[in-house]
Amino acid sequence: MTGAGAAAPHPTAASDTTHPTTASGGSSPMYTLTAVTKTYAQKKHTVTALDGVDLEIPAGQMVAIQGPTGGGKSTLLQMLGALDRPTSGTVRLGDADLSTAGDRALAAVRAREIGFVFQGFNLIPTLTAAENVETAFADASTPRAERRSRATEALAAVGLAERADHLPGELSGGQQQRVAIARALVGQPTVLLADEPTGSLDEATRDEIMDLLESVWRERGLTLVIVTHDSAVARRAQRRLRIAGGTVSELQPAA
Ligand code: ADP
Ligand code: MG
Repeated sequence: MTGAGAAAPHPTAASDTTHPTTASGGSSPMYTLTAVTKTYAQKKHTVTALDGVDLEIPAGQMVAIQGPTGGGKSTLLQMLGALDRPTSGTVRLGDADLSTAGDRALAAVRAREIGFVFQGFNLIPTLTAAENVETAFADASTPRAERRSRATEALAAVGLAERADHLPGELSGGQQQRVAIARALVGQPTVLLADEPTGSLDEATRDEIMDLLESVWRERGLTLVIVTHDSAVARRAQRRLRIAGGTVSELQPAA
């Protein structure tokens, strides 16, 4: 906001400047990626997972990312999710530079701004639905009673109020994904990132989960990024991107 972002980045500065402006009007960028490259060192060679990605995602947009296996979809989502830093280039989330932030600053960004949903749900099998949602409060700074009441609220918001005490193994795939969505949303993120969220579900359940994601996106004004192999899922987004060979292209202009 101050223009300080143009100065040499300080590795720990991000923790203090990580509230992206979600100003109404919709055109302020949530993400700005500039010349983002990510390489992984393999035994004898280097794999280029992202190869000079330039991408802007406005606040509040719903974006689908398609592309072949190995094309770089998950790597891109990790950059957006502050899970990893690019090898070169910059990733900005609002005012925060994720490419130079330290591990603690990235963790703070994740906790405050980002919810994740995965294909395999990633629930802890020995915890109830409510306890799984509560794991989102990782740092225990939220009092126990408040954690529980917010988890209960989040489960109600995904239509699972009466399943709070069930273990994941006692729930259907669609219900488990609803628990995972409640866990992703309980911290009130500004961004929701989903990696093949319907990849393990039948078509009817897929459509229910997409209805849910679309309604929370709309109601909460989230920025929603969904990686998917499924064109029926991608068609529901405002914007479709394809990533192959680490390069991003637009499949459909932004709405
Ligand atoms: P997608 O999600 O589109 O299938 P990924 O982003 O997972 O693609 O992978 C892109 C490329 O980077 C692939 O060639 C993959 O093998 C490689 N890759 C991804 N993660 C790692 C890693 N941690 N170590 C080494 N190579 C990786
Ligand atoms: Mg992947």
